Amino acid sequence: MSDYDSIVIGAGFAGAVVARELAEHGGEQVLVLDSRDHIGGNCYDVADEHGILIHKYGPHIFHTNIKRVYDYLSRFTEWFDYRHEVVAKVGESEIPVPFNLNTLKMVFGDEADELQNLLIERFGEGARVPILELKKADDPRLKKIADYVYQNIFLKYTMKQWGKSPEEIDPSVSGRVPVVLSTDNRYFMDTYQGMPREGYTPLFEKLLDHPGIRLKLSTDATDLLEFDPESDTPIRWKGEVFEGKVIFTGAIDELFGCRYGRLPYRSLRFDFEHFDKDVFQSHGVVNYTVSEDFTRITEFKYLTGETDKAGTTIVREYPFAYTGAEGEIPYYAINNPENDALYAKYKKLADDCSLTLLGRLAEYKYYNIDAIVDRALDVAKELMDE
Ligand code: FAD
Ligand code: UDP
Repeated sequence: MSDYDSIVIGAGFAGAVVARELAEHGGEQVLVLDSRDHIGGNCYDVADEHGILIHKYGPHIFHTNIKRVYDYLSRFTEWFDYRHEVVAKVGESEIPVPFNLNTLKMVFGDEADELQNLLIERFGEGARVPILELKKADDPRLKKIADYVYQNIFLKYTMKQWGKSPEEIDPSVSGRVPVVLSTDNRYFMDTYQGMPREGYTPLFEKLLDHPGIRLKLSTDATDLLEFDPESDTPIRWKGEVFEGKVIFTGAIDELFGCRYGRLPYRSLRFDFEHFDKDVFQSHGVVNYTVSEDFTRITEFKYLTGETDKAGTTIVREYPFAYTGAEGEIPYYAINNPENDALYAKYKKLADDCSLTLLGRLAEYKYYNIDAIVDRALDVAKELMDE
């Protein structure tokens, strides 16, 4: 017998939100486990040795059109009103990304007005046109724009990020950053956007601060729990049958010992560097779309609002194929029919154990923060209604 009604594996957004809901609205005793020595999953932030707030696992900017998600998170944080703009470094120029009508003007000069009229005539003002769509255009002038955007924004960056060309990856991925037929330079167009005013980690501290929640860090679930899909009592907690709910938010193939082979993921190496100057670059994020081995440089003080602090810290991101070696972290599912079919086999094992899968890794999906919070609220409700 265990003292817990539910065990949640992972203290990122998926795990923390579902745990809070089960404790607060289900009246449950919930144990949250995480193998890391901190809460927050990949959204964890912390002051570095120079006192600059950094995101240890890459830059995270909150944005959503889902009011209930914004309202929900607003219970646990106030917001710093951050407007995220990204530029691509192309040669000596820095051009706005997503490619928009301002970028068009910078790149095509005198020709831009004619091209703008043509784009708007074809797709409509304000349209968001995926590059792979634009590439299909047969008008040679539209083709010229498409070729420029493809060659200078997408091809090299995507090759670095995924080890594949834009045509070889799921179209929804490049479609996240369409060509935008407006003069709005923001990276995200969502109604609500911003950064937790004190940072993500304090938000998580509040989210997990509930008398029904017990947190155990530096604890891998597989040290305490066993899952046997072939058994009538498939879940064991410290060797004893566990009949409560278990919600898993990690990599599902690894939970089952990769018995059907590894699910492919992309990983990243983050190289941080500090400078004794106030500003390193022109924007919070600069994408290197035609040069360098890294994809982008983030300068954190823009994102966090710490612009009054002396010194600045940046991070460069180097993508690579996850191998499962010690210390590597899987960040991105690589969705394609073959990988999704392999995922389905692992999902079946989880279903046979009545294990709930939730999150970017556990569901093998490209979730943003808002989408996973939304999903966690739904899953918690389903679990409480059962
Ligand atoms: P995670 O945050 O990965 O949490 C899973 C947790 O489970 C981890 O803490 C892990 O240690 C733990 N765990 C796994 N296995 C075990 C185990 N066996 N035992 C114990 N614990 C375990 N989204 C945005 O909305 N805006 C952004 O700007 C943005 N930027 C991003 C940048 C990068 C580089 C990446 C990779 C993602 C970004 N995202 C962004 C997406 C965002 O990170 C995710 O939506 C969010 O972190 C998903 O939360 P999660 O709980 O599913 O997963
Ligand atoms: N992308 C690109 N060049 C850019 C920005 C994005 O080629 O300057 C492509 C790339 O394939 C990337 C995808 O668009 O993986 C999605 O970009 P997004 O910024 O949404 O990715 P995230 O960093 O959120 O994972």
